[in-house]
Amino acid sequence: MKRIYLDYSATTPVHPDVVTAMLPYFTEKFGNASTIYSYGRETRKAVEETREIFAKMIGADQSETIFTSGGTESDNHAIKGVAYANKTKGNHIITCKLEHHAVLETCHFLEKEGFKVTYLPVDADGLVNLLDVKKAITDRTILISIMMANNEIGVIQPVSEIGKLAREHKIYFHTDAVQAFGALPIDVEKMNIDLMSVSSHKLYGPKGVGALYFRKGTKIFPLIHGGEQEKRRRAGTENVAGIVGFGRACEIAQKEMSSEVKRLTALREKLIKGLFKRIPEITLNGHPEKRLPNNVNISVKYIEGESMILNLDLEGICASTGSACTSGSLEPSHVLTALGVSAEHSHGSIRFSMGKFTTVEDIDTVLTKMPEIVDRLRKLSPLYKQGKSGECNCKDGNCR
Ligand code: PLP
Repeated sequence: MKRIYLDYSATTPVHPDVVTAMLPYFTEKFGNASTIYSYGRETRKAVEETREIFAKMIGADQSETIFTSGGTESDNHAIKGVAYANKTKGNHIITCKLEHHAVLETCHFLEKEGFKVTYLPVDADGLVNLLDVKKAITDRTILISIMMANNEIGVIQPVSEIGKLAREHKIYFHTDAVQAFGALPIDVEKMNIDLMSVSSHKLYGPKGVGALYFRKGTKIFPLIHGGEQEKRRRAGTENVAGIVGFGRACEIAQKEMSSEVKRLTALREKLIKGLFKRIPEITLNGHPEKRLPNNVNISVKYIEGESMILNLDLEGICASTGSACTSGSLEPSHVLTALGVSAEHSHGSIRFSMGKFTTVEDIDTVLTKMPEIVDRLRKLSPLYKQGKSGECNCKDGNCR
């Protein structure tokens, strides 16, 4: 059976050209980039070449970038680093309820350290309101951290406008661009971004490598202490092969970005329209246009996302659900909850995220299989039977 991978937002396969670029750095070019003899010089050169590629791609200077182990580390470094380095100025951070756990958990940690955090709400489409940002700013605010694009619903936030507001108030602005980088054009100057987190494995690069951009002059503490690497801003022997792979992935992403945006947007629209035509009682989660070209997130009434995922898997289709399933208890997605989606709708959510190897035929297969699966599961669902007969047996009346 042909497998159809539709979970590119979780991770992507490493591009064959990226693998080719990386391979010599595991074998003949293995030197420690901190050494001064030829082995070290060649790996140092490779690391600095990637820095140049990355910096150019986002309109930054090379000195404003460090390599990290990925998006989680970059988010932690940006937020904790700015918080600790600026605590004499203030102790207030503004973020939003939709953020990735790498941001939310870091903020929760800082709250225990005495920082105050405002978690902004979003509207029903998942967008942060500029007025809410403005209202949340106090004279103690040192950092605003709002993601560029959401990992579950793909919603793209008004980052440039939020950055402008932050700049007017002399507040640092960080954006988690893990999902957006490689998919959308980014210019840190034009978009008023002071700090930005990215991750290689979302753009056909290897896992365990990413980068953090921070504008020259940003007061930020290191997260990892040790050696002199990255000008003492991030200690630890460089993951040279990973960094080289990340650089090649950046080059490919930049070259193919505009054609991929067009192609993926067409696939996204085909999938959304097709699902709506074939399956009654479904809703699209997140703004219909201000969303990543590859993201489709829907809630299917009366059934569980997990059941759909498992049934799709039996057909060779790999997608994901917004709900986290932890040891048998289902927590509704914090993202969908922030949009005001009911727990029942949230549990019935499913995310398809497309990518470089997704074809029109793959979408056609999903459009054939999904209605069959939904129909089968709904016939087994007590909620569906109740819904059909117009009865509601739930305690709070929120089951529909
Ligand atoms: N931020 C966002 C928006 C993400 O989607 C992810 C990963 O899914 C991360 C951060 C964490 O990145 P990494 O897996 O590189 O640690």
